[in-house]
Amino acid sequence: DISRLEKLSESAWRLSPRDGMRAPAIIYAAETLVSEMDDKVLEQIANVAKLPGVARAAYAMPDAHWGYGFPIGGVAAFDADEGGVVSAGGVGFDVSCGVRTHLTGLTPDQIHAVQDDLAAALYEHIPVGLGAEGELRLDDQEMTAMLSGGARWAVERGFGREEDLLRIEERGRAVDADPAEVSEFARKRQRREMGTLGSGNHYLEVQEVVDIFDPVVAEGYGLKRGECVVTIHCGSRGLGHQIGTEFLREMAVSAPALGIALPDRELACAPIKSDLGRRYLGAMRSAINCALANREIIGHLTRQVFARFFQHGELPLMFDVSHNTCKVERHAVDGGTRDLYVHRKGATRAFGPGDERLPESLRAFGQPVLIGGSMGTGSFVLAGVTTSEERAFSSACHGAGRRMSRHAATRMWGGRQVVDDLRAQGIIVKSPSMRGVAEEAPGAYKDVGAVVDSAEASGLAKKVAFLRPMICVKG
Ligand code: 5GP
Ligand code: MN
Ligand code: MN
Repeated sequence: DISRLEKLSESAWRLSPRDGMRAPAIIYAAETLVSEMDDKVLEQIANVAKLPGVARAAYAMPDAHWGYGFPIGGVAAFDADEGGVVSAGGVGFDVSCGVRTHLTGLTPDQIHAVQDDLAAALYEHIPVGLGAEGELRLDDQEMTAMLSGGARWAVERGFGREEDLLRIEERGRAVDADPAEVSEFARKRQRREMGTLGSGNHYLEVQEVVDIFDPVVAEGYGLKRGECVVTIHCGSRGLGHQIGTEFLREMAVSAPALGIALPDRELACAPIKSDLGRRYLGAMRSAINCALANREIIGHLTRQVFARFFQHGELPLMFDVSHNTCKVERHAVDGGTRDLYVHRKGATRAFGPGDERLPESLRAFGQPVLIGGSMGTGSFVLAGVTTSEERAFSSACHGAGRRMSRHAATRMWGGRQVVDDLRAQGIIVKSPSMRGVAEEAPGAYKDVGAVVDSAEASGLAKKVAFLRPMICVKG
């Protein structure tokens, strides 16, 4: 209900504190997107602003839609010294779900020449779908090494290249992970799932760079019009989901004893300075490492397939970002700077140019922000901008965002039909689940162009390139 919101600009809306809110809630999106948003988004982001120790404001990104507790596309930061909390629902079940893009240097003609065979080979070589298993089997000791080493662990085992690590957030490894806090069952679920894409909206796409909006930044990122890239979207598989499930339950049960009145049971959380909060952070960072290792292995498998088809299977990594995380970052609040626990759920970190946390090779351009659209409409690469710090703790959107539920989508489309329609447009879709494809039909998502225009107008990030899909391997 847009009438409850104060209009700050064409693409920023504010709900001032009321009903126990400790800070305002701010939505960054053009009016058309805000009015299409589920009322639940406003309710959820307002509830997030009621949590203890919330800093500045709770934010919703332009792709925001209803989620578990926090909206997907929600950003909120908490101050440990002000009784701030960490929330399992604020990170999401697929901990460190994220996106990476590899450059190929190949032209669309080179891909076209082998398109069907390449699609088949990727689909066959990279395990995909519910319960798909990889080749790797991790015993308990290797599991622990992976949970503390992240993508570095994968590289040390020969699944990836040293130089990849510089192009992954935190150089491929979340420090302060505590694998001892990851349960036996979470480990068991992951034992055979390393290097697997998973199901649902996870994908591997071969995409053509068809538009460049910022030539300088695009060149800095290595993106050239008329060249192809490979983008991989997946997360921490069964392990992350299990950690989310276990801690959510424990946080909900423990909240009263920890003195937290939950505005919504789904917002279960624990003080950062509590044993439960500390244990969750240790487990959650282990799950981040699991996701980083998983994407690194999938990148390696992708290189193996490309090497069969083309002279070189180099595929340098452009960047790897996570969009379901809680990270400690220094930000400006109340005239000073403080270390905050920044939750980004379905939101991308988006550091602006000059940020020391960016690798030197990208520092002049700002952080790459990788935005999925849908398997039909295309995707964007954005770049972080300095204004994003003040707007949303250096965050931006992560996708187009769902327009309708999975269930509603299956009533509108059939999977076979979607695959055939896309093939007619030159896009090859490979998936083990036709129901999954129907749930993920391009029409089930918002207009990604409108979403990124809002992100740009709000000062969250700027447009760099538009990518059109050619092959989509879909979970
Ligand atoms: P999420 O991380 O919330 O699960 O999904 C991120 C975003 O990925 C979605 O909001 C959607 O816009 C995008 N997306 C979903 N499926 C596909 C796909 O098959 N291809 C591309 N390029 N993007 C997708
Ligand atoms: Mn995911
Ligand atoms: Mn995701």
